[in-house]
Amino acid sequence: MINVLSYILFAFCIITLFLGVTVILRTDRHECENRLFFLISLSSSIWSFCWSMLLAQTETFPAYVWRSIGMISVFGYMVLATTILLRLANMRGAFATWAFCFSFVGFILFPFNIKRSYITFRQVWFGMSYQFAPNFWFTAYNVYTAIVFINIAVIIIYMFNKRTRTYQKVLARKLLISECGLFLGVLLDTFCPMFGLGAFPGSSLGQALCVMMLFPVILFTNRSHISFSNLAQYIYYATEAPILVIDSSGCPRIANDSAYSFFNKTSGQLSEMHILDIFDIKNRLLPQDRDTSRLECSCILNQSFCSLHFSRISDMYGDLLGFIIVITDLTDKQNMIRQLEAERNRANQANEAKSSFLAKMSHEIRTPINAILGMDEMILRESSSDSLTKYALDIKSAGKSLLSIINDILDFSKIESGRMELIEDTYSVGGMIHDLVNVLSVKAEDKGLSLDIRLAPDTPSRLYGDEVRIRQIITNILNNAIKYTNKGTVTLDVHWESKDEEHTTLVICVRDTGIGIRKEDMSRLFHAFQRVDPHKTHTIEGTGLGLSIVQKFVELMHGTIEVSSEYGKGSCFTIRLPQKIMDASPVGSLSDFDALPADNLHNVKQRTAPTARVLIVDDNRVNIAVLKGLLKRTKVQVDAVQSGADCLEKVRTNMYQIIYLDHMMPEMDGIETLKHLREMEDNASKNAVTIALTANAIVGAKEEYLSLGFDDYLSKPIESEQLETMLFSYLPEEMIQEE
Ligand code: ADP
Repeated sequence: MINVLSYILFAFCIITLFLGVTVILRTDRHECENRLFFLISLSSSIWSFCWSMLLAQTETFPAYVWRSIGMISVFGYMVLATTILLRLANMRGAFATWAFCFSFVGFILFPFNIKRSYITFRQVWFGMSYQFAPNFWFTAYNVYTAIVFINIAVIIIYMFNKRTRTYQKVLARKLLISECGLFLGVLLDTFCPMFGLGAFPGSSLGQALCVMMLFPVILFTNRSHISFSNLAQYIYYATEAPILVIDSSGCPRIANDSAYSFFNKTSGQLSEMHILDIFDIKNRLLPQDRDTSRLECSCILNQSFCSLHFSRISDMYGDLLGFIIVITDLTDKQNMIRQLEAERNRANQANEAKSSFLAKMSHEIRTPINAILGMDEMILRESSSDSLTKYALDIKSAGKSLLSIINDILDFSKIESGRMELIEDTYSVGGMIHDLVNVLSVKAEDKGLSLDIRLAPDTPSRLYGDEVRIRQIITNILNNAIKYTNKGTVTLDVHWESKDEEHTTLVICVRDTGIGIRKEDMSRLFHAFQRVDPHKTHTIEGTGLGLSIVQKFVELMHGTIEVSSEYGKGSCFTIRLPQKIMDASPVGSLSDFDALPADNLHNVKQRTAPTARVLIVDDNRVNIAVLKGLLKRTKVQVDAVQSGADCLEKVRTNMYQIIYLDHMMPEMDGIETLKHLREMEDNASKNAVTIALTANAIVGAKEEYLSLGFDDYLSKPIESEQLETMLFSYLPEEMIQEE
């Protein structure tokens, strides 16, 4: 048995020293716990070494020397053990101060504790041992040891109770077990000498075992210990985003786990690469001057598309040390954007195809309607038979409703494709309402309804807005009111709400005593191509487009539309349109407008111009016949040709005042013909007004023709009144006669 304990303690000395050095090398040496552990391991190692030496001695003096040296490390151990536990428990306050300060008392006791006369050394069964002569200092030493143990126990219990995190409780439990072990060892050191036995080095063995138990605790704490000082490090490792740190030459120095798995490279492989071997950076240039910058590029290693956020690392003089690069993988996002773009393009193409189909369809339908309505107009003008006139009137009415459907579809397609624009100008409120009522009162009368028109006399007389669209809105709503009312009254109430001197809100209320709208249908009212209450409305003509167009126009004008209705009793549509005031003088009574000279729509006196000459250029014979027929009563001299080339031939020898030029013609179209007309040297009709004649009625068509050099524009089907008004506006006054 002799010297076995000595060897064991020597082995403990080596082990604890090794553990201390491991902690300081493997973990963050700046962390206080790690440094304390290193010191505690060092004390423990010296303690074990001295007692190992002591046990191996045969002479008492060297044994005395080894014990005296060893006692320094014993007291050091006490101080360090208390301190490290206080830190682990994060304990502050009076008790912590007391426990810390008291542990130093051992150093005061040290000189008395090693006093030669108090200790006797002798050989026992496990080697050299010692015994104390009973005295005050020996007792004081025992009391000191007991109090340090009590302090440590209190700290550990505090740690167990106060800590909320599980790892701290686990830690406290482990520490408590090791303290109990150490205490048992201390009893052997303390009690054996009291009973006249040699001191068995239980505490020396216990303290080394304690250090060995503390070692995993410290490693565990290091792993679990998240404080604000090391939080950045945790973020760095915990973040899912790959992070790469490169030096100033562009070589990777540090990468987090996400970066290794993102690039599918080991740290060794990555450190041998250059940032430009990893990313395909434009111009192969890294950001230089700014603190942070972002660039997007593809990754050469995994073909992904990434966004790189560079944060510059500079030294205290501002010189570049390297960059922290946070990588965001945009591959999925980019694929999604590409997919969405492809889908958007497909949708746009489909929408364009639809719009162009609708525009073409409207163009194609307008041409025959032009013929139908034109020829019909001639029958109406020339027929003396009542029954023929009645048939012709029916054709006119059906043709007009077909035209209105086509116009609605065209408007809708324009709105859908976002090509609907407002064309704003100054207009007369009274004139507009008067015209509308003139047209719609006939319809109301036909149905036996009374049409009640109220225009607030103080409404500003001239406003600024898109009169054509406002007319369309009122016509649609008023038409519906008449359509969906079988008996009673339809009321149009127009008034204004004052905003400021320059702006007003025009309020248009259309009330009817018609079929009304069910509550559940209200939400579908403005949906395109949707008609509600089919049971009651299926016999009434309609496409379900009117209200949807009205709503879009109102939105375009930044106005509002409200509907209230009582099913079976009637409905009320209220539209509010913000408008600019151009003339604030009151509009007065609507009857004043009846007294005004009939405007151009209702020109009663027939004007003629027998000396005027016009040329019609159209490849379609029926269209020529229609136009000729419509111009008949103006008595102008009409020539007609069917191609651009014939037109150029005609103008060489004839002087025309007006040329009606069709757009779509085979070989030389209207635009090309116009170009030649303008460039021709021997053009006898150089001063002729050229009017584009086309079935193209899409928005902006007029502006387009004017920009191409035409003087005016007439869309098919040609309105005879519009045709005449335009004709006389361009003819010299001396040619016009009134009959
Ligand atoms: P339509 O061409 O069918 O009249 P609208 O878009 O103008 O299309 O109207 C949509 C639906 O709203 C109509 O089919 C009708 O059922 C209902 N509606 C519109 N105005 C009225 C009204 N004044 N009274 C009752 N129902 C109406």
